[in-house]
Amino acid sequence: MPRRPIVGGNWKCNPVEVSKLDGLVANINACDTTDCDVYVCPSNLHVGIVYTKFKEGVWCTPQNCNFKGCGAFTGEMAADQMVDMGLKWCLIGHSERRGEFGLPTPPESSALLAAKCEYLYSKGMKCVYAIGEPLSIREKGIEAVLEYCVQQLKPFLPLMDAEKLVIAYEPVWSIGTGVTASPEQAQETHAALRKWIAENKDPATAEAIRIQYGGSATAANAPQLSACPDVDGFLVGGASLKSEFAEIVAAIA
Ligand code: PGA
Repeated sequence: MPRRPIVGGNWKCNPVEVSKLDGLVANINACDTTDCDVYVCPSNLHVGIVYTKFKEGVWCTPQNCNFKGCGAFTGEMAADQMVDMGLKWCLIGHSERRGEFGLPTPPESSALLAAKCEYLYSKGMKCVYAIGEPLSIREKGIEAVLEYCVQQLKPFLPLMDAEKLVIAYEPVWSIGTGVTASPEQAQETHAALRKWIAENKDPATAEAIRIQYGGSATAANAPQLSACPDVDGFLVGGASLKSEFAEIVAAIA
């Protein structure tokens, strides 16, 4: 059964100016969503400003959530609040939150992220879960990459449900670097992850679950990457702040 492609735009902590939001929303709304799911992850401050502005078929998707809900959790965002706003998806596990760039304190572990995912499910929400290896692991070869990513996937085995979970494979060395994984590297890794899911969860879930590629995806490299049979879409950072985002969606749709 063919998988419906899915492309996300991760605005990260951008833009500076509220006045730029309408232009960025217009970039996203320019996408043809007929044959592709599209979601966008505005910065935490901006979610509340833009979430009503996306067209049908585009999901406003926060970049994080907590695993407890509302209450005395300063600085956090709760799935309960997202549900009240009509939001359906949340991104978790981005390497910039896992501590790969040394920013968050403490870094988020895969076990914590599984707790977040479970909480999202309990509120009826869906989850995009980002995984991916640093350069030192990639340099050791595909077996090491698989072993690293499997550690990130293991706590998600009970949560692996193709209707509710999208996996975003984002090699850390390609995020924001302009160094994209080659189509061969992306295909090999996605296929290996799918095989692992087939063997450790079940073949039907492995066949149906969508695995996005993320890391310096652009309108220029999206067509080749889209041709890989196990690449089901993209999680796009920098290029989601540009009009080329619609071309990336068109490449996979
Ligand atoms: P990038 O970011 O496209 O700017 O490399 C991707 C991401 O971090 O999701």
